[in-house]
Amino acid sequence: MSALSSSDIKAKARELGFDACGIAPAGDLPELRFLPEWLSRGYAGSMAYLARSADRRADVRRVLPSAKSVIVTATVYNTDRPYSTERADPARVEIARYAWGDDYHDVIGARLEALVAWMREASPEGFDARAYVDTGPVQERVYARHGGIGWIGKNTCVINPQLGSWIFLGEILCSLPLAPDAPSLDQCGTCTLCLDACPTRALVSPGELDSTRCISYLTIEHRGEFPADAREAVGSHVYGCDICQEVCPWNHAAPVSADPAWQPRRAWDLPSLDALSRMTDEEMQRALAGSAMKRAKPEGLRRNIAAASWNASTER
Ligand code: SF4
Ligand code: SF4
Repeated sequence: MSALSSSDIKAKARELGFDACGIAPAGDLPELRFLPEWLSRGYAGSMAYLARSADRRADVRRVLPSAKSVIVTATVYNTDRPYSTERADPARVEIARYAWGDDYHDVIGARLEALVAWMREASPEGFDARAYVDTGPVQERVYARHGGIGWIGKNTCVINPQLGSWIFLGEILCSLPLAPDAPSLDQCGTCTLCLDACPTRALVSPGELDSTRCISYLTIEHRGEFPADAREAVGSHVYGCDICQEVCPWNHAAPVSADPAWQPRRAWDLPSLDALSRMTDEEMQRALAGSAMKRAKPEGLRRNIAAASWNASTER
């Protein structure tokens, strides 16, 4: 059996349903040094887990000391529904595209585990590996850039030139010394569409997000009642916000996924404010089961729906 190569792993990743796969070195990458500064500006708000894991986030070798490579995967979750910025119906409310289908932690996590299991069978030598989807102490966008998946746009999302930015990332930290890809080059150029479109000015400079002003943070991470300015800021967004990705030219012809996992659940498929307001607790629990939206919890969603109702009433 010959040693497992980067191209073997990428071919298997494709077979398992990943749309892209790249390899980054597990090293001291320059962008990893930005986190302490970002935290010190208070941009993480109440996301204390980011400060708690900052030391480990500085280098994946603090998570897996034997790590030599980071295998990064990208999975398209875009579906064929119109963008929120294209819809003019005031009765609609907005839910971030990534949350319409099944919980990506479960789906991508299982696919990454399948890839690791295959690697263990195919590799003549043993190795350490640890897989993460979003929630691990790993600065995944930095590794995505260095694994050639895409550059980190001024909207802070990873943008792949063919796939756009509607992608879930996943990583496998691994002790095998795999041949790395070339880092992706920044292709934002002089564009500032995302910064200009952000309704809350949360993108304070290119690639710098003040989470405490971001609608995604307010509707998902913020606990408790909204202060009046936040209630107004969320507008008709009841879970997350896609505006800075929707306006990005790299998403204008973004491919859509046929994967059943990402197709919108009925309750979250272009819902009206009225329909969401009338959901019983039981209906909401059912729709949230196995969905990424369960992070906001029913009480958080109810709060967001109430804010959207208040905003709709004050618009009239
Ligand atoms: S997600 Fe929405 S609120 Fe947050 S930075 Fe993007 S456009 Fe602004
Ligand atoms: S909208 Fe423009 S500046 Fe923003 S991420 Fe896309 S290409 Fe970059």
